[in-house]
Order: sequence, then structure tokens, then C-alpha cells
Amino acid sequence: MNSVRTRNATVRLPFRCDAPDCRRYLEMEITPLPEAGLEFSSWIVREEPRETLALLDIRVSRTSDIITMCSMCRKIKLSESTWMEVEAAIHALDLFAEAELPQISHGLCRSCFDTSLAAIGKRTGNL
Ligand SMILES: [Zn+2]
Repeated sequence: MNSVRTRNATVRLPFRCDAPDCRRYLEMEITPLPEAGLEFSSWIVREEPRETLALLDIRVSRTSDIITMCSMCRKIKLSESTWMEVEAAIHALDLFAEAELPQISHGLCRSCFDTSLAAIGKRTGNL
């Protein structure tokens, strides 16, 4: 938001807002307005139905384990350098066989971190 105000330039960022049974690809635009105001707009670019994922269902009971999901692209963190699509991560972490699933925390993967910095005109940094 600071960058949009300082540069007086609109920023557009891709992000995901998935449902358990649907991948939703969206974009958000932040536009500067007079007197330090900002306008936020977002819209759905496309939706892809998928098999319902219990991991994303808020009604499923959770353990005290925590996994990290990227806030922008919805990939799951497997290690510092490895992030996978939810479906692949469920298999990699053997979560489909679990009666209770881990809690989900949010962060930013390297790719989305770099995309965000580029959108606001900053160079790639370190996480
Ligand atoms: Zn990401």
C-alpha cells in the first residue's frame, strides 16, 4: 500500500482464493486515489472445479500440527525451498490417510514473494 501511494502507480497481483472443491484464480488491483486514498478491486480470472479436498474444509477436525500454505498461490510448503500444489502435497505428506488433518498457517512462497516485490517495483530480496 505504501508503494502504491509513494509511486502513485496501480499495482496488480495474481492470487488464489480456493474452495475445497474449486481452484479460483483471481487478480487484485490497488489503485492510488487523491489524499492518500486507495481503491482495492479484485476479480475472478477463472475457476477450475476439482475433487473436494478435506484439507481445505474448515469443518474437518485438526491436530496441533501446522503446515504452511502460500497466501497467494495456495501451494503447501514442504521445505524451505519446496512448495507444492495442495493435491500433490496431500500425497507427499501422506495426509489423505489421516483421520485428523493439520492446521493451516499462511506465508508466502519464493515465487509469490518475488512477484509481489516486482509488482511494487522492488528488487528480489531474501525471505
Ligand atoms: Zn505462492
